[in-house]
Formats: sequence, C-alpha cells, structure tokens
Amino acid sequence: MRKIIHIVGNRPQLIKLAVLHQYLSLHSDVQQSIIHTGQHYSYSMNELFFEELSIPTPDINFNIQHSSPNGFIGLAADALQQFFVKEQNAAAFVYGDTNSTLAAALAATRTHTPLLHFEAGVRTGDNSMPEEINRLLTDRLANINFCCTQNNLNNLLAEGYGSSIPCKTILSGDLMLDAFLKIAPGKISTQLPDEFILCTIHRAANLSDKNNLAHIIDALNQLHQQTAVVMPIHPHTQKKIESYGLAIEFIALPPVGYPQMKSLLQRAVFVITDSGGTSREAYFSNKPSLIIMNKPFWPEIIEAGCALQSIAHKNEILKNVQLLNNLPLHFNSAIFGNGNAAASIGANIRVS
Ligand code: UDP
Repeated sequence: MRKIIHIVGNRPQLIKLAVLHQYLSLHSDVQQSIIHTGQHYSYSMNELFFEELSIPTPDINFNIQHSSPNGFIGLAADALQQFFVKEQNAAAFVYGDTNSTLAAALAATRTHTPLLHFEAGVRTGDNSMPEEINRLLTDRLANINFCCTQNNLNNLLAEGYGSSIPCKTILSGDLMLDAFLKIAPGKISTQLPDEFILCTIHRAANLSDKNNLAHIIDALNQLHQQTAVVMPIHPHTQKKIESYGLAIEFIALPPVGYPQMKSLLQRAVFVITDSGGTSREAYFSNKPSLIIMNKPFWPEIIEAGCALQSIAHKNEILKNVQLLNNLPLHFNSAIFGNGNAAASIGANIRVS
C-alpha cells in the first residue's frame, strides 16, 4: 500500500494514532493522511492531544456534530465516501469501536478502499452496547484485522475469520501499550493528596440512567471520606452530573492530557473506571482496578487477577473495592504484547 488514511474522531483514537503515525513516518515510505470526523471537538478532548503527542494537523476535519448516533454515522460515512472515492492506492486505517470507526468502515467498503482495523476481535456478547455493534460490523468489513490480545484473535478465529470469512487476522499487540511505554508522564498542575483513587466514568450505560450515575457518584463520595478520589471528568459525564443534579464531594478535574493521565495512573492507589483504555492502562501501571461495566471489554485483565468488575450499584461498588485487596495481581504476563504493536502493524502494511 502506498498510502494510509487514518480516520479518527475521539480521544483514545488520537493516542493510538500518535504512536502508529510516528512509527510509519520513521520506518516506512508509506504516505499518510489523517481525517478527523469531528466527534470529539473540545480543546481538552482533542487539540490538546495533537499538541502534546505531536500529531500532525488532520488533512481534513469534517466537524460533524449530530445528536443521534445513526445521524452522525450517516453524515460521516457520506463525507468519507466522497473523500475515499478520489484516492488511488490508499487504504483506510480505523481504530477501535466508535461511530467514526463504523462510518469509515462503511465508506471504505463502498469505495473498494482496503480497510485495516486495529483493536479487532473484542467481544462482550452484549449487542445493547453501541461499541459492540460498531466493532462487529467493522471487523466483518475489514481486509486486515489487527488484534491486541490472543483472546481477541481467538474470538475472530472461532467466528470463521481467516477461513470462511476471508481477511487477514494479525495478533499485533496493543498500540495503547506502545503509547504507555513511549510517552513520558507529565506534570500535574493541581495539588493532589499523596494517596488517591483515580476514577474515570463516561460509558453510555452508566450515564444514560440517572440511577446508575447516582449510585456511582454516591459510592465515590463515600470512598472519598477515607481515601481521596480524583476524577478527570469527561464532558458527557459533566453534563449528566449537572442535568441530574448530583452532588460531587470528591476531587473533580477537567479532562487532562495523556502525559498527565499517565502520572495520575502512576500515583494512584487503584483505579475505578468504565473505560476500555484506562482499564488497560491500570494494568500497564501495575494497579488493581474496578471496572464498572456489566460486560467489560477486556476480561483478560480480570482473568489475570488484576481487576474486578462491578455493576453500577453503590453497595456492589463498595463491596468490590474491599475485595481489590485480595486480588492475586499477576501483572507480569504479556497479555497486550510487548509494546511493539506499531512495528507489527507496519510490517503487515508493507507486505499487504
Ligand atoms: N485519558 C486522558 N485524559 C483524561 C481521561 C482519559 O488522556 O482525562 C486517556 C486515558 O489515559 C486513555 C484514554 O484517554 O488513554 C481513554 O479514553 P476514554 O476513556 O475516553 O475512552 P475508552 O478507552 O473508554 O474508549
């Protein structure tokens, strides 16, 4: 392939893009361009990452905002299709399981643009989660599926990928681990206590139901009375906290940059999160975590004895936090590879 078009739209995709783009710039002669759909647009969720992670400015930002997910996917797929149709010898590279990912997968398929998907093969079996639909469809349309873990690869093989479903499946390892190993921690401007629990919450399942978010906030307020809780708050979560009229009694920060997040992870006693990325980074940081999801995206971390899962209920959260002390904490296995995912992806792009 002579050209890779990276399609991104949200914060974790920018982190993965940063390491892959840099690797390909240094170690291959493939041309690269970046298209931003506009999904995340505030400074602290978007430009900050371009600046701090030295990502080149996108060639195009479609600036698409739409209140309905399908409306967004439709507009983004349309805009991307018009772009792809003009490209020769280019492949589309998509990350994860967002609406931008699916939109790009649809546009690439319609324009016969080869589709390369990173973070393929994640399966929760829960089709009520928007991410699950996005990844099922994107995996199915991709010409090359890059998997972070053996478990992800096994999921694809069990579904007939690489046999009855023609595509390449590659165990690349996790670009998030590459990023975690390469990017240095950054200075945190806010004064924080010596000991704290780091928390991030933003999944639709925990926000769309007032009861769920109220239970989570209640549990965090209570935990904060013993060990400080620090939460960089996602804009969606902030809006919901305000609209539901919930009272926060712990330390709330605006969203921080990736290097600052790495510092927070290093300093935290443990992590409470519903984020696929942050749960992996807790594991990379050798920190136990409580994952507030009915079906966690990365059961590997729980199977390794490094995390527990909880429903969004105050008593369950508090009970599980106590149980974190008893975890065997087997952090040493290379579940997510060895930090060379970009090199593995690069090698497979060259030969394909
Ligand atoms: N993150 C960040 N600043 C924050 C919160 C999270 O840089 O204030 C990073 C975090 O370290 C991880 C990524 O954002 O690398 C996770 O993104 P998010 O939780 O938005 O999405 P998910 O991983 O759940 O798809």
